Amino acid sequence: MADKETEQMSNKDEQDILKSTQTIIRKALEKLGYSKEVFELLKEPMRMITVKIPVRMDDGSVKVFKGFRAQHNDAVGPTKGGIRFHPNVTEKEVSALSIWMSLKCGIVDLPYGGGKGGIICDPRNMSFREVERLSRGYVRAISQFVGPTKDIPAPDVFTNSQIMAWMMDEYSKIDEFNSPGFITGKPLVLGGSHGRESATAKGVTICIREAARKKGIDLKGARVVVQGFGNAGSYLSKFLSDAGAKVIGISDVHGGLYDPDGLDINYLLDRRDSFGTVTNLFKDTITNKELLELDCDILVPAAIENQITEENAPNIKAKIIVEAANGPTTLKATEILTRRGILIVPDVLASAGGVTVSYFEWVQNNQGYYWSEEEIEEKLEAVMVKAFNNVYETAVNRQVDMRLAAYMVGVRKMAEASKFRGWV
Ligand code: NAD
Repeated sequence: MADKETEQMSNKDEQDILKSTQTIIRKALEKLGYSKEVFELLKEPMRMITVKIPVRMDDGSVKVFKGFRAQHNDAVGPTKGGIRFHPNVTEKEVSALSIWMSLKCGIVDLPYGGGKGGIICDPRNMSFREVERLSRGYVRAISQFVGPTKDIPAPDVFTNSQIMAWMMDEYSKIDEFNSPGFITGKPLVLGGSHGRESATAKGVTICIREAARKKGIDLKGARVVVQGFGNAGSYLSKFLSDAGAKVIGISDVHGGLYDPDGLDINYLLDRRDSFGTVTNLFKDTITNKELLELDCDILVPAAIENQITEENAPNIKAKIIVEAANGPTTLKATEILTRRGILIVPDVLASAGGVTVSYFEWVQNNQGYYWSEEEIEEKLEAVMVKAFNNVYETAVNRQVDMRLAAYMVGVRKMAEASKFRGWV
């Protein structure tokens, strides 16, 4: 993707996830030979719902929260994507995340478009009952626009299976039917799926194994560095160390731990808290900057966005980067790394395991017949391997980097379906 447009992007534009996503979508559509109208249609969500949610707080006062639901494109099927509860939620962020969901669904070939929701709130400062009232209020506010065949929510940052259960219950009351297929990420007893919690990390692990194969690296003994030790980072460190890899570095928001002989992941998992922090218990830590530049075979950013930029990209020593986090590498860094022969497995491919198992959950809810953990694993394996190879071969055959290849694969079905429907 070494071109003028990327070069001219300022650092601010680079770190604006909506702008950089639109830049790559436009390139992907151009490469695939689609007209400008297709880009006009796909560059933003087709629908953005803004709602106000009044909530009775425990002290008797009423607080009015603001929420969003973005539906990017439903040409392929209903839209699908998580709901985020966070003080920094913005309409722009929800828009960009709904586009990423569309791309992920396209890459793993699910019959969905992308969606995303968010409420500006801080659940860490709210009581259990206040969070319940907010969750139910949000569902009442958006109930006309969502549903098992329209738009299917799921968990995201600071939302969990309990919140999904309240939301499903509220929707079922409005719908006057038991509607488990309205939402995914539910507890098992309410129609949740086996394997949902660790699905993202499983998918990332499969991508790491496939990428290592392509690079001729034996996963047994491969030296891996993982940034972030939360839901994604901790599970995948465990899966990798169980597969015989040597996890030599991990980090969290406070810093990193490094041992060239391999860290004891089970020990660290036992000591980590529910926010994914563990390094504060140790004295000899390194910085996150040092961690990213460690000599290793595989680097997995699994924390936050914009960690690998044009500043540190020249110093990265890994042979493979697999992005478990959303948006950890800027476009300029992607160019530098690709030029240096480093294989990047982009976020929209690497972290698509979560939505894949969410799809399995929805299918099970619709058919009323449930699969075992082994069946889920087998199906996830098949989907991720196929998606990885599809993106890899597109990159090789079309001589583009892995990120552009992933976008080309991700956007194609949506563009084609929009054309067949006569929209563009
Ligand atoms: P989490 O909140 O459970 O964990 C985040 C981890 O990152 C923690 O260890 C935290 O200490 C660390 N961290 C936070 N700020 C940091 C910083 N400035 N520097 C270094 N480390 C920092 O989050 P998660 O669910 O594991 O998600 C991690 C990333 O993976 C996010 O980008 C998320 O969007 C992406 N992702 C997660 C899932 C999932 O199913 N969990 C699915 C798709 C994508």
